[in-house]
Formats: sequence, structure tokens, C-alpha cells
Amino acid sequence: MSSVSRHCWRRLMLILVCSTSLHFLFISSKYTALITRHPGNLDEPLVIFGDIAVPTGLQNADPCTARGCLWPKNNNGRVFVPYRISNQYSRRERDVIEQGLKSFEAATCISFRPQSRERDFLNIQSRDGCYSFVGRRGGGQIVSLSRQGCVFHQIVQHEVLHALGFDHEQTRSDRDQHVRILLENVIPGMEHNFRKIDTRNLDTSYDYNSVMHYGRFAFSKNREPTIIPIPNENVAIGRATEMSGNDILRVNRLYNCSMYLYIHMDSIYI
Ligand SMILES: [Zn+2]
Repeated sequence: MSSVSRHCWRRLMLILVCSTSLHFLFISSKYTALITRHPGNLDEPLVIFGDIAVPTGLQNADPCTARGCLWPKNNNGRVFVPYRISNQYSRRERDVIEQGLKSFEAATCISFRPQSRERDFLNIQSRDGCYSFVGRRGGGQIVSLSRQGCVFHQIVQHEVLHALGFDHEQTRSDRDQHVRILLENVIPGMEHNFRKIDTRNLDTSYDYNSVMHYGRFAFSKNREPTIIPIPNENVAIGRATEMSGNDILRVNRLYNCSMYLYIHMDSIYI
């Protein structure tokens, strides 16, 4: 495999995951080959419960947004993201997913619409866990929302935010000023999930209430915390039930949703 191919594969493996209990699942770049070779299910990525994503080194989601993984904007200023929802879901589950998608429309310039002939789209399926690629990857990219534990409003928003180009909050470049990572409590081999990323923070503050923030015990091997907020250790983290104001602001800044930026700023700061 050429270095370019290897580079691309690594980026493709930026698959990020979480579940209702804020236990995390993951796909590691070292399992790249298994994407197409997983025994018994040829295109099912290997997802292991209890972990998360992204040992990718130089490449991570957010910087890709400066290099073309954003979803394109229409002349009218809206970003239309095509999607398909698998018929695996019940009516109620489908409603939860559609409501999650709709929640972006009121507050941002992102709209989701059923895929027709568009080449790039979100292919929402119940696979093994909750995960999404980061940013637009080309073609029908899988967003897995397992019927076993992933069809919840905040998880739909979380995975869609990955697909729009966002990483987890505690990987932000400035995270060390806001959280302390206790690697000694992390499951051996899972330390990469706490690697800091050179994220584009869009001039927004670190947000414990972000729907993209992990919980205090993510990947703990011993029921001791792996993430502690500083300076106040008692602040709740990873408990969001929906997108925070900051999550919404970041979408609007990343996609330059000018009208929504104005409205949002009004509601937050005035
Ligand atoms: Zn995630």
C-alpha cells in the first residue's frame, strides 16, 4: 500500500463511538483491514465494546474540515446533508432519529433530507454499536446507531456532529486547562482515546456540557475516574442530554451559518 493510500485509510478509520451509558466503543486504525475482512460479515467494521476511537496520529477529524471534509453549502446558504435510514428500525426508533436530525434545522443552517441521487450521504444503520466517521468521507458513509442502546436523541446528535466534522470535547487542543486525564486508570491499550488533537476550536470555550464530552469514567479499568474537571473536580461532565449552546455555535461557525450565528449570539449574550 502506498503511503498516500495508507494515509487515506488512516483517515477513514476515524470512527468514533459512544453509547447511552457513556461506555465507549471503538475502531482502531490497526483494524483497518478488518473493515472488509471481518469474518462472517464482510463489510461490518470490527467494533469492540468498552472502547472508543481514533489512534490516528497526525490526522484527526477537525483539521480535516480545513481540507475538504465539510458538507457543501447551497446557493441559499443552507447545507443539505442527504441521508438514508435503514428499514431495520421501528417506527418509534425512526422518529427518534428523524427528530435528532431535525434538531439541527431550527438552530443551524444544516438541513437533512432523504437521499435521492446525491453521491455523498449518511447511511444510518443499526450495526454493532454507535459510531460515525468524522466529516464527509465520500459515498454513503455509515452512521451506526445500534437498536441496542444507541437510538437516543443525544446520541443521534453526537454521531451526526462527528459526521459534520467534530471531535470529542476532551480531545481539544486546550483541554489540559480544563480537565486532567488519569491514564493510570485507563484500560491498557486504550490510552490513545485520550490523546490530544490539534483541533480547530472556532473561538469557543471548552464546554463540559457539550454533547461531545465523555463521562468521568470513560475507559476506566478500575471504576476510578479517567477524566477529572479542573479546577473544580465536582463539575458534571459528559451528562448532556442534547446539544449545548456551544455545540450549536460551533456548527454555525464551522459552516459559516451567518444568519444563525447572529440569532444564536443574540440569544446567548443579550
Ligand atoms: Zn463520539
